[in-house]
Amino acid sequence: MSKRKTVIRGGHVLQADGGALPRDILIEDGRIVAIEGAGFPVSADAEPVSANDRLLIPGLVNAHTHSHGALNRGAVEDRVSLEMFLTGAGASARSRGLEDKYLSAALSAAGMIRKGCTACFDLTVEFPEPSTDGIAAVARAYQDAGMRAVVAPMIADRTIYHALPGLLDALPDSLRPQFGRLAAAPIATTFKACNDILANWNFDARFIRPALGPSIPLHCSDDFLVECARLSREHGVRLQTHLAESRAQASLGRARCGISLVEHLDKLGFLSDRLSVAHAIWLESGDIRRLGECGVTVAHNPSSNLRLGSGVAPVREMLRAGVTVGIGTDASNTSDGQNMFEATRLASYLSRIDAFAADEWISAGEAFVMATEGSAKGLGFHEIGRIAAGYEADIVFLRLESTHFVPLRSPLLQMVFGENGASVDTVMVGGRVVFGEGKLLTLDEGQLRSRAEEAARRLDEANADLVVSGAKVARLVGAFCAAQGCELHSLPRKLRSL
Ligand SMILES: [Zn+2]
Repeated sequence: MSKRKTVIRGGHVLQADGGALPRDILIEDGRIVAIEGAGFPVSADAEPVSANDRLLIPGLVNAHTHSHGALNRGAVEDRVSLEMFLTGAGASARSRGLEDKYLSAALSAAGMIRKGCTACFDLTVEFPEPSTDGIAAVARAYQDAGMRAVVAPMIADRTIYHALPGLLDALPDSLRPQFGRLAAAPIATTFKACNDILANWNFDARFIRPALGPSIPLHCSDDFLVECARLSREHGVRLQTHLAESRAQASLGRARCGISLVEHLDKLGFLSDRLSVAHAIWLESGDIRRLGECGVTVAHNPSSNLRLGSGVAPVREMLRAGVTVGIGTDASNTSDGQNMFEATRLASYLSRIDAFAADEWISAGEAFVMATEGSAKGLGFHEIGRIAAGYEADIVFLRLESTHFVPLRSPLLQMVFGENGASVDTVMVGGRVVFGEGKLLTLDEGQLRSRAEEAARRLDEANADLVVSGAKVARLVGAFCAAQGCELHSLPRKLRSL
């Protein structure tokens, strides 16, 4: 059978030095096979795709998100910290049928593709426990959207009320029984589902792979974490967790374990090169070195960290220690636009708020490498993140007539500092155009919208009690966690994070 061939003509390919060169790209069966000077000869059966006046960049890779957040857009109030958010998180998962799970992932994928993202790591939660059908519905949404994804059931064996030492005691007597009674899914049920998911994966692993997502170390017993690590080894799949995202997690982690969370995870044998950790903000002395030695990658989520007031991750120190850092948006209920261009820009800008020496700042080039090659490593996809021969043809075409590119002097700088996704003209994944001329070509966005509005009305009604109960306790939980974090907060950031 002859190979499917495409040649992209007339584009300017972003270069490692920040410039762009006129280059044509030959693609065979979804992979880049040659990048050469404009007009280079190719066989007659190569289908031409025009990239005139377009900057060609590798598809952005979202190192951390949650597709279930898309149907929950607009439901998370302003000025809500991470733990306050978690008190109401049940409302973003309960009462959802398979179609809702599919719909939320499809909405999430549509938003990401529109903003130049071609692959993501999705920790998706189901209530009360993960299911093979539910995870398959999410994977099918990515397959239909034409995007790459790592799909992991997000799991835990403790609720927040049992995860944070002292929290239940701090609640008033009138509320303690109600929240103390809440329980996570039984461990055996959770792992049976996870085993089934991993053992019976029916999707093309070139595009969509399964993984495991123990949600937050404090929300998981040690046995639970050890079993997750074992399963990931046995099945050769990725693991992702939220690590030291908030000050309270770090200080309560130390209170529970007597050592830092990272040291504790290391002792459990949980740290490995299959693991990526989201956030990693409130690290202690020696933690970064330990993550680097174990080959753990970090998913830096600057927009979500700002939205939830979580803090600023010590990214320069990570890079210096040889840790691979990727960039994620987090879910669209805590990072509302799921915009990888914005997250990349913020990764660079945020590094400047407390580093006096300019050469300590994260450069535009470093941020872009994180958002592509760095994130790709976190996903375990080693053939994405670059426009190079041998790599998958995941390519985003940006319109060079957009104002921030005029006049064009420094394509990389003007993109990282000026682009917001509005210049995205065409998105190609594995050589297939999935977005073009302002439209998603794989999903019916009009239909997604009407289904989302209907689902939101139905789910909001079904989950109204959870919203009310979450609101009742959110301020108390927020105040408890803020108090836990005070000790860490009073230290200079450098001391906390080295
Ligand atoms: Zn997250």
